[in-house]
This record gives sequence, structure tokens and C-alpha cells, in this order.
Amino acid sequence: MINIVLFGPPGAGKGTQAEKLKQHFDLIHLSTGDIFRANIKGQTELGNLAKSYIDKGQLVPDEVTIDLLKSEMDKYPDTKGFIFDGFPRTTAQAEALDKMLAEKGEKVDVMVALEVPEEELKKRLMARAEVSGRTDDADPEIIQNRINVYKKETAPVKDYYAGKGKYVGINGVGSIDEIFNKLVEEINKHI
Ligand code: AMP
Repeated sequence: MINIVLFGPPGAGKGTQAEKLKQHFDLIHLSTGDIFRANIKGQTELGNLAKSYIDKGQLVPDEVTIDLLKSEMDKYPDTKGFIFDGFPRTTAQAEALDKMLAEKGEKVDVMVALEVPEEELKKRLMARAEVSGRTDDADPEIIQNRINVYKKETAPVKDYYAGKGKYVGINGVGSIDEIFNKLVEEINKHI
């Protein structure tokens, strides 16, 4: 199996690149943010719970998120592998992912991180709000909160993978194709 963690702050371009990588490597794209939004739209119990956190720019609790990811992964027993987008966002989630994969005799091959300066992220998120309809993109205060949560709770996940020699940082400013080519080059070194 090929298991890639696509990492980076909100607005770094993870969703865009994940779609391209999924096609290139023939993998399943798992975005916890997308799954939460589908549940919000469907007004499920999980959706209602997730919304109360997402609307404030906070993380959905680990327990809920980890259970959700596990049940999503179980839907694809025969896949060649996964691109994890927006997960793991805490060290506890990273540890849980390793455990879930180890139970299948698998592992994370590499974490590729898109690095984008904070001012550029804010600009991109405000622009995305115009087309995405995402309420968490529209409000500067919520955007700032998401960036702060990223720095405090999510950035340490880098160290988790760096400690295992699996972290690769990539400049996330440039054309979509330029960044995609760099991602493919780095991923190929690890799979
Ligand atoms: P995203 O689409 O990845 O930007 O995620 C949107 C929102 O969903 C985040 O701001 C969090 O509130 C929530 N979320 C997505 N993935 C996770 C995760 N792995 N852990 C906790 N909360 C998450």
C-alpha cells in the first residue's frame, strides 16, 4: 500500500493537490474536513457535533475524528492506498493512524507538507470564501483562530514524522502544476 499524509495550514492548497495526487497514484483521497462537511449538509448527528467546532475554527475532538477516519478507511479494503488530507491534525491522531495502519501490516510512507506564509494563507482563504460558501472561510476572526490552532496543535505533528525521517517540506507558493510536480518527485523517493 501507499499511504501519503498531505500536510499544511488551512489554505495551503491541500485539497487541490490531493485531487491531482489521487489520480496520479490511483489512491483514495480521505479528507476529514470534506467528510464533516458532507455530514453537516446531511444534518447527521456527527454533522451537528462537528459544526459546533468547525464554526468556531476549533478542532473536532480526537476521539470523534479518529473513529470517523477508521470507519472511512474500512470502506476501502482493496485500495492501493490513501492520501490523508487534513488528518492527522494532532499528535494523538498521528499515533492512532500508525496503530490503525499497523493492524493492517501497513505504515505511513511520507508526510509532504505545503509551506505557505501566513499573509498569503489569509488572502487565499478570503478569496476561497467567495466560491466555497464555507462559513469558516468568510470571517477573518475564524480564519485567525484556525491558523492559531494549526500552529499550536497541528504543527507538532511535523516533528512526529520528522523524528521518523518521513517529513518533507515543499514550497506551496507557485503554480498548481509546479507544486504538483515537486510533490510527485518527493513522494516517489519514499514509496
Ligand atoms: P479542512 O477542510 O481540512 O480545512 O477542515 C475544516 C474543519 O474541520 C477544521 O477547521 C476542523 O474544525 C475540522 N477538522 C477537519 N479535519 C480535522 C481533524 N483531523 N481533526 C479535528 N478537526 C478536524
